[in-house]
Amino acid sequence: MKAAVYKGKEAIIIEEVAMPTLEDGEVLLEIEACNVCGTDLRTYRHGDKKIIPPRILGHEFCGRVVESRSKDTDIKVGDRVLMYIVLSCGECRYCKAGRENLCQSRTTMSYHLDGAFAPFMKVPAKAVRRRQLFKVSEELPAGHLSLAEPLGCVINAHGRGRLEVGLKDKVAIIGAGPIGVMHALVSRYQGAQQVDMFDVMQARLDKATTFDIDHTVKAEKEGSHLERAQELTDGLGYDVVIVAVSVAQAQADALEIAGKAGRVEFFGGLPKTNPFATLNTNHLHYKELRISGSYSEKMSDFQAATALVQKKDFPADKIVTHTLPLGSITEAFTLMESGEALKVSMNPNL
Ligand SMILES: [Zn+2]
Ligand SMILES: [Zn+2]
Repeated sequence: MKAAVYKGKEAIIIEEVAMPTLEDGEVLLEIEACNVCGTDLRTYRHGDKKIIPPRILGHEFCGRVVESRSKDTDIKVGDRVLMYIVLSCGECRYCKAGRENLCQSRTTMSYHLDGAFAPFMKVPAKAVRRRQLFKVSEELPAGHLSLAEPLGCVINAHGRGRLEVGLKDKVAIIGAGPIGVMHALVSRYQGAQQVDMFDVMQARLDKATTFDIDHTVKAEKEGSHLERAQELTDGLGYDVVIVAVSVAQAQADALEIAGKAGRVEFFGGLPKTNPFATLNTNHLHYKELRISGSYSEKMSDFQAATALVQKKDFPADKIVTHTLPLGSITEAFTLMESGEALKVSMNPNL
């Protein structure tokens, strides 16, 4: 089969690789779509210590079971499925506390095992046994369903009473990419009174206006967006600020535009080569702010996301802006960087 193989920084090569062969307990998926994640782009541009090439990337996928060597699952050949991609130990303190995303010895599809930028991918026996495959609708496009993976991460960030978005809340989201848009949607589902989007790129803000967003604000070096934030919140600042971009300045801005008793979420990390931000921590003190972080998702988040992407009003068609053949993966990266694309879906059958 022809797969997109990551060979190292700036090198993803389309080449012939062997068809995966199944061991006992494993399942083979024929991949219908695999969406490109910001982390795929980051790995391509900068490399990732956790990923040892050659490796097939791609972890936001939807596929059909074409072969099964598992007896202990209700998943059958012919089923169309999504997969929860975290392979946790089930034994450590965090797994036992139901926080398998924080597992001490977790491995992940496309990091430690081959992912889905390929026509076929095999599902490890452990994941099959633990019911990590979820049957999905035949009606919806595979690229739309594949949004469940990043959406689950967004739901994890909103979980455990951290952001507590409610009817009285004004929410600011910094970063108008697909993750920012999904944070806006989830905030809205939770009843947010006002949802505003900040970004440095006008092209991204223009896209964001097609969603249910109250105001878009272009972030400028001289800080005019900070004043605009005050105007949009009657001088009080936002109740919830979500940073959905890997930029230190955005984290600093978040503390500026948060209001008293505000909740701030740093979604995603900064570049590993320079993960430091200069923050005015007096904002934490005087405004009694709460800052949270989040990493990946729990299986319950993925389950919730799987249900949500299949709901009629979920605007998946506006989030997935491009569908390309697998061979055009580097083109997908360019589209993401220019702000022209929100989510790009790769189709190995085109
Ligand atoms: Zn992802
Ligand atoms: Zn564990």
